[in-house]
Amino acid sequence: MIDLHLHTTASDGTCTPEQIVARVRAAGIRAFSVTDHDTVAALPAVRALAARASLEFLGGIEVTSVADGDDVHVLGYGFDEASPRLLEFLRAQRADRVERVKTMGRRLAELGVSIDVDAVLATAPAEGARSIGRPALADAMVRGGHVATRAEGFDRFLARDRPAYVPRTGPSPADVVGLLSDVGALTSLAHPGLLRHDRFVPALVGRGLAALEVYHSDHDAAAVGRFGALARRLGVGRTGGSDFHGEDVSRPRVLGCTRLPRTHYERLLAEGRRRGCPALPAR
Ligand code: AMP
Ligand code: MN
Ligand code: MN
Ligand code: MN
Repeated sequence: MIDLHLHTTASDGTCTPEQIVARVRAAGIRAFSVTDHDTVAALPAVRALAARASLEFLGGIEVTSVADGDDVHVLGYGFDEASPRLLEFLRAQRADRVERVKTMGRRLAELGVSIDVDAVLATAPAEGARSIGRPALADAMVRGGHVATRAEGFDRFLARDRPAYVPRTGPSPADVVGLLSDVGALTSLAHPGLLRHDRFVPALVGRGLAALEVYHSDHDAAAVGRFGALARRLGVGRTGGSDFHGEDVSRPRVLGCTRLPRTHYERLLAEGRRRGCPALPAR
């Protein structure tokens, strides 16, 4: 089994590197990636633990970009994790996240939902490597008894078009695909089935897009068929994964529930070798 989309405590997942590797092992997954939002902080620890457990590990990331006011997530794999250009870009992305969380915290207070935003922010210090986001606000709302679950926090307050939502500003998907490609990444458009439109996708191919995330826990069979066909038409590969964030954080994204067929994984790695990606699993 192969799962190329997992989160840890470096972003909005609930598992530490130790816990995620233990879970991967228990699920019978043989090759995997960790793809935290706008941070590579967990990758060294996960890589070391994976090696000890004889699991194949591909370093990854899920970078946030913005198209027409909507969030567009871009996955990157096998890139130079020490690239100064990448690390500076990610630091700026995380600083924007902090400002957005502060603004949403103020909105929540105006709505009568008082949570300790400073305590939330203290878990992701300004110059630190952890990334903060709406899930942390939702979790604080759960702890404060304002909502029962993270999902309820989104549904009532934090999701797009809900009262505490603050639109994001940030780089375009094309610029993110370009930057990630420049630092040696194989890029994949994350969960295209969750996008409101995919008009911008063909233009990403010219910037280096390597794949679409055809297999994802939020994709039904029709979406897999549709994006598999689109990948073929665009001449790009396929990636896939569960997008596991932890057990108790809503959405049926069970680790191992979505897998990438091995043929597509092998093709992705072959493309990475062809491009000279600097951090592919040893063979
Ligand atoms: P942010 O990066 O701050 O915009 O938060 C987006 C993250 O929130 C996503 O990566 C998901 O993990 C999570 N998320 C988005 N929508 C929901 C939802 N309806 N319920 C629970 N979690 C969600
Ligand atoms: Mn997330
Ligand atoms: Mn995502
Ligand atoms: Mn994700």
